Amino acid sequence: MMERYSRQTLFAPIGEDGQKQISTKHVLLIGAGALGTGNAEALVRAGVGKLTVIDRDYVEWSNLQRQQLYSEQDAQDKLPKAVAAKERLQKINSEVEIVALVNDVTAESLEKLVQEESVDLLLDATDNFDIRLIMNDIAQKYEIPWVYGACVGSYGITFTILPGETPCLSCLLKTVPLGGATCDTVGIIAPAVSMVVSHQVAEALKILSGNSKDCRKKLVSFDLWKNQYVAVDVQKMKDAACPSCGDSPTYPNISFENQTKTAVLCGRDSVQIRPSHNGERDLPELKRMLQTQGIQFESNPYLLSFEVENHRLVAFKDGRVLVHGTKEISAAKSLYYRYFG
Ligand SMILES: [Zn+2]
Repeated sequence: MMERYSRQTLFAPIGEDGQKQISTKHVLLIGAGALGTGNAEALVRAGVGKLTVIDRDYVEWSNLQRQQLYSEQDAQDKLPKAVAAKERLQKINSEVEIVALVNDVTAESLEKLVQEESVDLLLDATDNFDIRLIMNDIAQKYEIPWVYGACVGSYGITFTILPGETPCLSCLLKTVPLGGATCDTVGIIAPAVSMVVSHQVAEALKILSGNSKDCRKKLVSFDLWKNQYVAVDVQKMKDAACPSCGDSPTYPNISFENQTKTAVLCGRDSVQIRPSHNGERDLPELKRMLQTQGIQFESNPYLLSFEVENHRLVAFKDGRVLVHGTKEISAAKSLYYRYFG
């Protein structure tokens, strides 16, 4: 074993002790696409104790350009990504315990996983912002570090979230635009993926080897084509009133995730959020809440409308809320949870 990891243990900040720690740790990787396969291969080569990979898709030809664990045969066979990844990873390192889950990620399934066994690190390799918000709440509730990562085109962004120390994703959402285009619409080049993966794996190795103190405190984003690289200090964005990491957290994305349905309204800059539990919204109560906060509103017997942070929110008696001024579900949800959560 020591021969295999000799170059990594020679690296002083990790050493023999750090390597031992890495070999006892369990990483939960959400997504086995481009970021997922890159993260998985690096961590398995680095000798992590256990890796659980969740992904619901199967391998397609359009994946092969950047999803490094997959082969033509996998695409031919339409193998589920988690299964194909596990097969390849196990050939790379047979000492690592690898669990492949071909699943949808929901608040419920993710919470069950972290309750059933200890998870030392959550790695974000999804392309779905709703899932990131679920991860964010799970990470806070169970005090598990997680590393956010996303890329599209030649652009990438990443941030390390340490519960109790750094701001969380919800804190950042108020000021940083994190959602937007996906690689299905604007494409992606492989080096943007590798760059995000490198940042994520470096942070993972710090956390897993007992060196969390060395984690990067800045939000990093870059565009490899436009030759831009930005690192922003976001530590002061930690919000004591944040519903996910603040002083009295409600974890809205795991408590309400299964109760809300969202839809971007076609041709309009609006997102509709519909709570699935039946029941009317208490508009008089909502009025009182807005009055105490000094927020102006208009109302009729069927709806109440008010403006905050450049968005108009319309709450209907039947429970629905329209968020105007955005097409981004994550931004709309963040506003929704703040005023109705
Ligand atoms: Zn927060």
